[in-house]
This record gives sequence, structure tokens and C-alpha cells, in this order.
Amino acid sequence: MRTEDILDAIDAAEDTGRRAGRIPLPGLSHEDIQSLKVCGNPVAALAGETTDKEYLQLQQYRNVISNSILSGLHACPRRLINEKTIAFDNVELTTANTNVDFVYGHSVGAGVQTLFAYERIDYALYAAFLSWRADWDLGKQEWNYKKKKTIEKAAIAVEMFQVFRAEHLYEWELYWLPNGKPAIEISFCINLGKTKYFGHIDLILRNKRTGKIAIGEIKTTGFSNPDEATFRNSGQALGYSLILDSIVGVDADYDVMYFTYSTTGQEWHFWPFAKSVAHKLEWIQDRLIDSGHLQQYFQLQHFPKNGASCMQFNRRCQFYGTCDLVNKEKIAALPALDDEHSVYPVDYYYDVQELINRQTGEM
Ligand code: SF4
Repeated sequence: MRTEDILDAIDAAEDTGRRAGRIPLPGLSHEDIQSLKVCGNPVAALAGETTDKEYLQLQQYRNVISNSILSGLHACPRRLINEKTIAFDNVELTTANTNVDFVYGHSVGAGVQTLFAYERIDYALYAAFLSWRADWDLGKQEWNYKKKKTIEKAAIAVEMFQVFRAEHLYEWELYWLPNGKPAIEISFCINLGKTKYFGHIDLILRNKRTGKIAIGEIKTTGFSNPDEATFRNSGQALGYSLILDSIVGVDADYDVMYFTYSTTGQEWHFWPFAKSVAHKLEWIQDRLIDSGHLQQYFQLQHFPKNGASCMQFNRRCQFYGTCDLVNKEKIAALPALDDEHSVYPVDYYYDVQELINRQTGEM
């Protein structure tokens, strides 16, 4: 019997899906995962890295950027400053998550990564379960149910990846770092001068036949017919390919491969994009411009509103009606991160000049 059939049967028997007013079932905590890691649980050792409390705390710093922070900045600077002040106010609070999109995406991502690392579907499904860092019944509320983002659906997505991989990725295996670490969730920080860019690489893969290296990005989307245009010019994985040279020890152009799961269509899509040195240098230039913008907003203590983003994906912005409440005192109180080694240790640190020199052959 397939996972989907078993889980549908449980859902039908218990009517767990749409009952109103039921008591939430608390999921695993940060401490639960840590204790499994300490006990040497191999799946826990890999799963769940990106929800670490310290990584979330980075958001509060005025000079820290990441792909998700830049998405906020580009969509609406006012939204970004609201997010940063909330992160600052809540920094000591729990990391319990109520954002089903984030929780679901993280669970599916951990399952896929673990499948590459251990080549075992039971480990992969266990990783998806461990990485569901929220109440177990998140996603089953009436207002969320149409999204089809539940723990059961995350398990189905992982199971389907196994079939997708056999069809599209049979030549690709996980790259292992020289220190014996699997190339999963490789964390890095680039010091851009005015800001510090933090990121995680989902997967680094190696072609078994040619030896070519590629970045693997795992995405989930609510669109039933997702389009490659969503990702072709995305800066996220491009920034990752920038540091790949130094990780794998060769200077070359790389592919960035997107594995995108449609939750409504229940199928995986495969989009590989070739990236050149010129693309990578463009990425640096773009991030330096972003850094300048952010610094200017802080100097003026004014973060412009972008009314076009108040309504996105048929949903109001979470700050709709309250985004005027952030004031100059709150903005001024946000700390700066002076030492990038202090809060959240990463696998690799870079200075932007070092990366430019490497790409232009001046090293
Ligand atoms: S409600 Fe609109 S203007 Fe206000 S933060 Fe959200 S997107 Fe920006």
C-alpha cells in the first residue's frame, strides 16, 4: 500500500482534516531535535538545520541580508522593516511556526536531501517527519486545507521525488566535501562591506558520468502549472554558484537545477539553467546595490511602502492596516551585526573582494 493510501485512510477514519475547534497536536521542538542529534540519530543530524533558532535571529540585524530578506525588501521596504522589528521583539520567544508554506517546504526539502544522502526512502520520510517543525495538524484547518500542505502531503511529495529522480536525475549523486560532510545545507556568509549576506545551499550534486558539479534547489509551489520563468533569473542559486568554485576547488561555469513540486498538481518539475562567470559578477553588483538601498533607508529612517504588494497570491499582507506602527525609535533600536562569526557559525566565510578576484582571475 502506498503512503498516500495509508494516510488517506487514516484521515478518513479519524476525520482529522476539517474538524473545527480541535486541540492542536504539538509537533517536535528544537530541543527534541537537538537531543536526537546528540544521541547520534543520523537523520536528525541532517534534517532541520535551516530552522535553527540562531538563523532566525539573524533577521533582526540591520545589516544582515539573505535571499528571503531581499524578497521582502524588493516586494515592499516597509514590510521588511516590520519583519525586522518583529524579529527583534520576539528574539527570545519560541520558534514554533504557524506559516504552513514555510513548514511544508522545509519538510519536503529535508526529505529530498536525505534521500540523496542515504539513498533510503524510509530515512527520507523520517526526515520529512522530523522537519515538520510545527503542530502536526497545521495545514488541516479549513482556511489552509485548499493548499494541500499537510504532513501527509509532504510525505507524498518525498515519495514522488524518488520516481522523479529515477527519471531525470539518475546521472546525479550527492557531492561530499573533502572533510567527509555531505553537501547538504552548506551555510555561508559573504561580507559585502555595508551588509553581510547569509545563505544555505540545498544540495551540491555531481554528475557520475562527467564529473560536472551543479547546485540543486528544492522548491514547492501552490501553482498547478508552475513556469520556469519564476526561477530562471532568480538570484538565490546564482549567489550560491558564486562560492561553489572555492568549495569544490575548480573554477568553472555551473548548472543550477531547480526541482519544483506543485502541491496542487502533485508533480515534480525539472528546470536546469546554465550560469556563467558574467552572471555571477552581475549577482555581486546587484547585492551591493541592495546593500546601498538598505543603508539609505536606515539613514533616512524611512522605509517606503509599495502598495502593489499589499495583496499577493489572493492574500493581504500580514501587516495590512498596521504597517504604519513601526516608528523611528524602533528602527533606531535594531542592532548591527559586527562579527559575522558570533551569532550563527557557518561552513564558509567570504569577503566580497575575494570573490570578485576569483571570478576575474586575479587570485
Ligand atoms: S500592507 Fe502594503 S505597504 Fe504595508 S507593509 Fe504590507 S505590502 Fe507594504
